[in-house]
Amino acid sequence: MAKPKITYICSNCGAKAPQMLGRCPVCGEWGTYEEEVEDAYTASGTGSGLFGSGSKGIRARGNSMPQKIQEIEATEEMRIDMHNGELNRVLGGGLVPGSLVLLGGEPGIGKSTLALQVLL
Ligand SMILES: [Zn+2]
Repeated sequence: MAKPKITYICSNCGAKAPQMLGRCPVCGEWGTYEEEVEDAYTASGTGSGLFGSGSKGIRARGNSMPQKIQEIEATEEMRIDMHNGELNRVLGGGLVPGSLVLLGGEPGIGKSTLALQVLL
């Protein structure tokens, strides 16, 4: 993955700089520089993402377009049986392939034990 490119843009006049500046050399305003993160994907994109091209590093991936909630098709995801009834129940019927699950809890609550049981 390409290293994200960070540029700084004056929110008053739009001047770009490679580093954070206290005072804009173009318009003379103080404290107007804001960080903008550009990664390889968005830099080569069309800039017509969900949030437009002027947002501060927040861009939609691909050709995402807003949809009306009535038009969104709800489909059942395939689930991987974890061979543990309670874990399957907590996961909504099993683990969704390609998903990420955060296992959190107090020290000693059994996170490692549960992870080992799943791996077995
Ligand atoms: Zn400026």
